[in-house]
Amino acid sequence: MTIAAPATPTTESREIVLRVENLKKYFPIHRGVFQSHVGDVKAVDGISFTVHRGETLGLVGESGCGKTTAGRTIIRLYEPTAGRVDFLGTDMASLKGESLRQIRQKMQMIFQDPYASLNPRMSVFKIVGEPLEVFHIAAGEERKERVAQLLELVGLNPDFMRRYPHEFSGGQRQRIGLARSLALNPDLIICDEPISALDVSIQAQVVNLLEDLQEKLGLTYVFIAHDLSMVRHISNRIAVMYLGKIMELTDRDTLYSNPQHPYTQALLSAVPVPDPVIEEKRQRIILEGDLPSPAHPPKGCNFNTRCPKAFDTCFEVDPDIAEIAPGHFCACHLVKGRA
Ligand code: SF4
Repeated sequence: MTIAAPATPTTESREIVLRVENLKKYFPIHRGVFQSHVGDVKAVDGISFTVHRGETLGLVGESGCGKTTAGRTIIRLYEPTAGRVDFLGTDMASLKGESLRQIRQKMQMIFQDPYASLNPRMSVFKIVGEPLEVFHIAAGEERKERVAQLLELVGLNPDFMRRYPHEFSGGQRQRIGLARSLALNPDLIICDEPISALDVSIQAQVVNLLEDLQEKLGLTYVFIAHDLSMVRHISNRIAVMYLGKIMELTDRDTLYSNPQHPYTQALLSAVPVPDPVIEEKRQRIILEGDLPSPAHPPKGCNFNTRCPKAFDTCFEVDPDIAEIAPGHFCACHLVKGRA
């Protein structure tokens, strides 16, 4: 039986900016002359979590696990198949037209590929100033001043506003994308692998910038990444996704020091440790096989085709995600102490 992951309970007093409950995004598969509906690609299959103001939630998993689709569904670039997204206390599904447009201002997304996500025919002034124009927030000299402020905020020289994207490096382009996403004073930014396409030397600069902006502007982030080393520094809590579902969710320190799910353990075994003594003893858990297709997830636990610890029940029963310790959620039949 599969049930929704419980929304993260919390003793936190900070405002909940985002609450995702049992969110699903299926893409229908049609075949034949009559384009009959023959199945679904279950890209996101019932995920739940909350994110508090000023917090960063890392959303991690291999490519194809559904993390990017989850981000796009939260921000309503895709219509959810089922489930609920509450943003700033409002059920997003209840909004249409202008009211949806207005609340979308407060929710922005930055993308993985800074080379592809900026229109090459638009100047930096146009790119960063466009949201101000579309939402009638600033025109003329005021818009120019606001664009200059935004560029300064992300560490770019405002004199560059008449230049075009191809004149900038990858890290600078990601800063331009960030300046654009900040133009409408958002509360939440979904960062979709914002550093994966950048040189390692530039990655830390972008992460530091995101952290500075979070502190200055009280921003809340969902930070999507494909490996655990990328989210360690920036995340307060981390959700590990596999084949459309959350396998484990807890605070960062617990996840790295006491991972419970076999998939998290395997991912962490691939992360190098800076201490040479521990690094020498590190034992890599190699996962056999590929990620199954989300159009044909296995019966039972989604991870059973690759799990080194799988046993009979895993091939029959899908484990519910349960709170195994305060704030620590895991979906595995082997993990004890479940509520
Ligand atoms: Fe592995 Fe079974 Fe746990 Fe799934 S439920 S992670 S297959 S041990």
